[in-house]
Amino acid sequence: MSYNPFENAQKQFDGVAEYLNLDAGARALLREPMKEFHFTIPVKMDDGTTKVFKAFRIKHNDARGPAKGGIRFHPHETADTVRALSTWMTWKCAVVDIPLGGGKGGIVCDPREMSLGEQERMCRGYIRQLYNQVGPNVDVPAPDVMSNGQHMLWMMDEYETLMGERLPGVITGKPLGMGGSLGRTEATGYGTVYTLVDLLNAENIDIKTTAASIQGFGNVAEYAARLYTELGGKVICVSCWNQADKTAYTFRKKDGCNIEELVGIKDTFGSIDKDKAVALGYEVLSGDAWLSEDVDILIPAALENQITPAVFLNISKRVKVICEAANGPTTPDCDPLIKERGIMLIPDFLCNAGGVTCSYFEQVQCNMNYFWSREEVLEKLNFAMSKAFRAVYELGKEKNLYMRDAAYVIAIERVVKAVKLRGWIS
Ligand code: NAD
Repeated sequence: MSYNPFENAQKQFDGVAEYLNLDAGARALLREPMKEFHFTIPVKMDDGTTKVFKAFRIKHNDARGPAKGGIRFHPHETADTVRALSTWMTWKCAVVDIPLGGGKGGIVCDPREMSLGEQERMCRGYIRQLYNQVGPNVDVPAPDVMSNGQHMLWMMDEYETLMGERLPGVITGKPLGMGGSLGRTEATGYGTVYTLVDLLNAENIDIKTTAASIQGFGNVAEYAARLYTELGGKVICVSCWNQADKTAYTFRKKDGCNIEELVGIKDTFGSIDKDKAVALGYEVLSGDAWLSEDVDILIPAALENQITPAVFLNISKRVKVICEAANGPTTPDCDPLIKERGIMLIPDFLCNAGGVTCSYFEQVQCNMNYFWSREEVLEKLNFAMSKAFRAVYELGKEKNLYMRDAAYVIAIERVVKAVKLRGWIS
């Protein structure tokens, strides 16, 4: 069965819209993006040929502030994935209560197969096509899967060149010293663990007694794994993609992975070197083996549509918590099974909101041209994430709601209030 992320996002919204008894106008407005740009980027390749890349920028809703959202580089990127991700960005900014809306971008490309020069020309081409539709007060991109701080800096430079002034607030996730914020690199992974710690504390579970299995070893997974193990948790396995073999593998150490050791043998795209892992004593299993590991916590931190009813059958009875660090890792038809089993799920748009929260801090610092210490950033991040988590957890307890639904209720009510106050709907 194949899943369409945008249909998933709409199904999740429809269920909560029904629960909230939203009127037809609000439903029609919020189940679709407000603006979409689909375009092509011609790029001169190193061999003298020209390659044309398809690209998107989609704004779901900006009633609460400028749209905000990453630009994903992926060979299988589709308009519907970007639509879904822009929708989730609206709910994400609302649930953590930052004054931003939802946007997302994507380029159908595989940077792993491109030289740095080709990547730079593609990034600059993206902004040349889009510069009058983004801006610090309009729509603010950031990195996402396979895009990074260097890509953002090339984009910022192209934007500033076209606009004729310095406008570092146009983009976030920039390198340090060039408008980037301390703490941004670790923000999404740390934010995931801040919400996990709050949940474990609320449920009287000692993190030191827990074990976790993680999918992905990119930016989000690496920092989630680092903080979780620093706090005493044990990561039993990590699954990630192997570009040479075009398949995923799970790397397992029953007595706990050494995260620093794994970081030392991964590439910039979050792929662990198989031979080096074997030499370090890791078992190499199939890509989906991470899901059936006997652990307390599952942290999907790679891609969407990974936890489906078919694979749910293999999930260990010991699993108590799913932290959705990735966007859309669980399919809507799996939610009832998770609920029924009593597994506590921290929904994606809350769990991984640390990234956008820190991006917001980056924008604030750029606007002031005054930069905070790492401690100050992380303290503010922990405060924002914990506040959002507590509101969701308490509403869930009070109304007997699954945490995804409780988070949606809070986010949708905030956005509905904004569109009503603006007079967009009656
Ligand atoms: P990344 O590109 O740094 O890492 C992606 C990881 O997923 C890599 O380790 C890759 O090997 C792995 N992967 C890819 N396909 C896989 C497969 N089939 N099986 C197993 N592993 C696979 O990306 P990231 O920035 O860490 O983002 C991960 C997820 O978190 C995405 O869903 C993204 O949208 C979401 N997210 C990221 C941020 C952020 O700040 N980076 C913020 C919010 C949400």
